[in-house]
Amino acid sequence: MSERIAEALDLVVRAFKLGEYDSNVIGMAAEVIAEVEFGMTKAPRGSRDVDGTWFVDGREHKVQVKAWSEGRVKKYRRGTFLTLKENSLPDVLLCMIVYCSKPGYEIIYNGPPTAVGKVEVNRPVRVIRFDHMKTADEVASILQRLGLEERPRASRAKVTQIESGSAKLCSICGVSFPVEEFEYGGKQLNSYCTSCCRLHGQAYARGGSEATRQFREGMRKNWSK
Ligand SMILES: [Zn+2]
Repeated sequence: MSERIAEALDLVVRAFKLGEYDSNVIGMAAEVIAEVEFGMTKAPRGSRDVDGTWFVDGREHKVQVKAWSEGRVKKYRRGTFLTLKENSLPDVLLCMIVYCSKPGYEIIYNGPPTAVGKVEVNRPVRVIRFDHMKTADEVASILQRLGLEERPRASRAKVTQIESGSAKLCSICGVSFPVEEFEYGGKQLNSYCTSCCRLHGQAYARGGSEATRQFREGMRKNWSK
């Protein structure tokens, strides 16, 4: 690890020890990582919707750097999300988790933002979730490294019920999302979130209804009792 990155991560750990003052230092550390590890050139101060640029294939790419704290990922788990303005998307989204309990970070995504997430129905905002950027297995192993072995308990009865004004639980992963997450395929209230729906389809392609049953049960075992 380069000295600059090590120094930035050390600052994060020290800031975290003082209390909940970590969000600004996490952004700083993420930009240092983008500069040192990825050769990003910082955008001029005051630039909107872009943190920097780098050259790939002879072309300048606009980059936006998003960093989640360890605490945020521990709280929202696979549902941890970020948002981008759909009408001013960068060429590249670089997303990472920055640890606070120890000096360290983990790259979650480095690619075009158009390949991940979902545009909200009512406004031009792209919502990109942790499990839009990594496979279910990769998310699970990262959560495990964060010391999260089990999902919070939720009763089965809660699953089909709409939780609050505009949130609903996915009946496969048990995560609560805005109801828009369940609007697809011409239906208002599907039971599965979009990423579970995709994985469900992949399971079916692999092994038919037996494979989908195993997929559903395997996922539910993690949170439903
Ligand atoms: Zn789901």
